[in-house]
Amino acid sequence: MSKPKIFLTRPIPPASMALLEREAELTFNPDDRVLSREELIAGMVGQDGLLCTLMDGIDGELLDATPNLKVVANYAVGYNNIDVAAATARKIPVTNTPGVLTDSTADMAWALMFAIGRRVVEGDQLVRSRRWQGWGPMQLLGQDITGATLGLIGLGRIGRAMVKRAKGFDMKVVYWNRTRLSAAEENELGMTYLEQKAVLATADFVSVHVALNAETTHLIGEAELAAMKSTAYLINTARGPVVDEKALVRALQNGTIGGAGLDVFEREPALEPALYDLPNVVIPPHLGSATIGTRTKMGNMAAENCLAVCRGERPPNLVNPEVFG
Ligand code: NAP
Repeated sequence: MSKPKIFLTRPIPPASMALLEREAELTFNPDDRVLSREELIAGMVGQDGLLCTLMDGIDGELLDATPNLKVVANYAVGYNNIDVAAATARKIPVTNTPGVLTDSTADMAWALMFAIGRRVVEGDQLVRSRRWQGWGPMQLLGQDITGATLGLIGLGRIGRAMVKRAKGFDMKVVYWNRTRLSAAEENELGMTYLEQKAVLATADFVSVHVALNAETTHLIGEAELAAMKSTAYLINTARGPVVDEKALVRALQNGTIGGAGLDVFEREPALEPALYDLPNVVIPPHLGSATIGTRTKMGNMAAENCLAVCRGERPPNLVNPEVFG
């Protein structure tokens, strides 16, 4: 029997590529860059499976141009880059990589809390500028993390991983989620449910963990930022468009909030221009899942999802189960 054909839009860890090559005829973009739409279509034509990243926009038009395609396996837990309804209408399974990046993403949110709250990046820049005059009693004073109040907007896997970390820092945790947890779960996790505005008004650090979709786009806009304490920090490791970036820039410039730690941006890789120069933001380039271990687990999971569909099996991490209904 001939091997299935799989197209990979960007190199992923070698172990995951080897997994694909064992069972499939693998074609991949060898360059570490995002393919243009034309290149993407050219690569996908005649393939059975597509393994793509969150930088590849997959829509109905593209799926129509590649009628042999049997599966779209995303190398991410979020799948806002894929028009899932269009794939479902064409009976194409879409898969993602849940769970394996939970801890590394929560770790990144935690790193951002420290980086912005304790002014690590500003301090690093001061030392590198060679203008540092030595320790000073009032130099670069930040905010305590230990004992502060953490406000979570979204309590899925990553939101829950934040609660665990908060315990180690004696933080009080308040949360808002579309689906409220049971009282027993809230007790067990030691946190308090509040309406969204109340979470924003109470927290010293607000960390966003919702999936991006039509309802969560600009969930945090001008009014929400205005509800936050003027000393509070906004942390976003979810997806850029969940936060209205223009409104955020105004809030940072006007002192409406204290600062922000942003791993994700509204129009990546472009940023709202003022962000580059604001001192009260820390802006790593979408590194939430960027550890060797996590990226390998994501690659293996995406490869297994892709191969499962090519074998005629139901993939382990299916986003649109309707296609198998
Ligand atoms: P998850 O367990 O599926 O949780 C998703 C969360 O989004 C839940 O709280 C869910 O609420 C909420 N949500 C979904 N649709 C909503 C809507 N229409 N309105 C309000 N809330 C909604 O996902 P996860 O594994 O924690 O990941 C969360 C997100 O983090 C991912 O979708 C991804 O975009 C992002 N992420 C980023 C990085 C990075 O590199 N920075 C890495 C990993 C993940 P319910 O409980 O009510 O369903």
